[in-house]
Amino acid sequence: MPLVLTEFHIGVDDTDSRLGGCTTYTAAVLFQELVSEGFKPLDFPWLVRLNPNIPWKTRGNGALSLHFTVEEEQLEDVKKVAIATVERTTDLTQRATDPAMVFLKGRAPNPLREFSSRALHDVLSVNEARQTAESARSEVHLLKGSRGLVGALASVGADFDHDHTFEIIAYRTPENIGTKRRVNYDSVRQMDALFRGLTFNNIDPETGRVLICPHGPDPVLLGIRGKDPASVTGGLNHLEINEPIERVMIFRTNQGTDAHLNYHTRIQALRPHQSAVITGDVSDSPRIVRGGHVIFRIHDETGSVDCAAYHATGSVRDTSLQLSPGDSVAVSGGIRPQPLRELTLNVEKLEVTRLVDKVRLENPTCSNCGTRCESMGRDQGFRCRKCKARLPRTSRVEKLEPRKIRVGVYLPPPRAHRHLTKPASRYGIDHPNSPKTDDTIDQTLVSLVSIPIVS
Ligand code: ATP
Repeated sequence: MPLVLTEFHIGVDDTDSRLGGCTTYTAAVLFQELVSEGFKPLDFPWLVRLNPNIPWKTRGNGALSLHFTVEEEQLEDVKKVAIATVERTTDLTQRATDPAMVFLKGRAPNPLREFSSRALHDVLSVNEARQTAESARSEVHLLKGSRGLVGALASVGADFDHDHTFEIIAYRTPENIGTKRRVNYDSVRQMDALFRGLTFNNIDPETGRVLICPHGPDPVLLGIRGKDPASVTGGLNHLEINEPIERVMIFRTNQGTDAHLNYHTRIQALRPHQSAVITGDVSDSPRIVRGGHVIFRIHDETGSVDCAAYHATGSVRDTSLQLSPGDSVAVSGGIRPQPLRELTLNVEKLEVTRLVDKVRLENPTCSNCGTRCESMGRDQGFRCRKCKARLPRTSRVEKLEPRKIRVGVYLPPPRAHRHLTKPASRYGIDHPNSPKTDDTIDQTLVSLVSIPIVS
């Protein structure tokens, strides 16, 4: 009997809580387990970041999927390994943890791809996820509640064809979880300089803050993001790490691609917790509110909305403050509900597309002696203090005020980036430059699976 091979995709989400765990860890363990049992991966595991403005996310709204070629008769074995691994790596006692798995045989059909694409910017219901899973003939396995299904399903149908990046993650040994991460920060700075253009967001350039290490009680020691598996692996090898590493995994991911900022819509259509891009004109002068945040209102032909540029967004906030009524902008960000059902757009990216001329009215200069005249009072004309000449009220001159900002794209500093934010260094790069070949996966796998676990 000839062997019947099939593509098999496994989606996982919501195995972690604020107190511990990480869905990337579950995926790394499962990937390595399946590979060590002889199953052949079609690709690196996918780390798919979804709508970052979902209020019930734990941290970065990440969902994971694994992609293998499997013999038909081994499918049940793979599922058993997957379920056992998820059960083993999840703390089911946490109330907000609702682990979900999705098993899909064959390629993701269009409705599922469309569901994934909307999960990047919209709020989707578990009901819709169930219907989509059913129509895609995928199998759903829930360990507790059902909320994780949205992410697990969306990760299986993700589309990385237009753009993607990679992240290598090193995981800590259990006894070190919760303690300070022992990574030499000078070695991170050196690595950043050596791998500039190949990796991104290692360091915040303004503050020098190291960005590759998280701070919570999760098993992630560090993660390096970059353009291809070789770059992120090279970056990791340059670091001085002073604690044992339990395992290492490379993920293909949509981080650093702005994938959540593809939804261009009109103001009237905005809904709470979406990620959206609005094109419009500035309605009135920006104002500063408590905390130094800047609020400006924009309008299009369907309505108007307040945009909030938070202090932490650096040049986005400073540029917002310099906007004038009539300027044209494209504002990207998350939609926050406010009391009284008003919505606010929290600005994640600001593109200034047109600046109006700003005109200032100046007192005239004296036609006899050239001295700047003074006003004689409200609704009165002007008088030269030196030679006492008088000029009418209408003699005020219009002066073009130089604008302090330029047309262009303004981004927050890396320390305030979302996982999905496309860093400035990736602008102009729209196409993945690392084709998915069996060769790259095979080579990298050999090194990953044989990495000295617990050094
Ligand atoms: P971590 O980054 O540490 O893995 P997380 O921030 O990804 O954690 P989860 O614990 O995965 O947080 O919780 C996110 C929850 O939101 C999941 O249950 C997921 O199914 C759900 N979810 C993700 N995207 C959407 C969406 N667009 N609409 C509705 N629910 C979503």
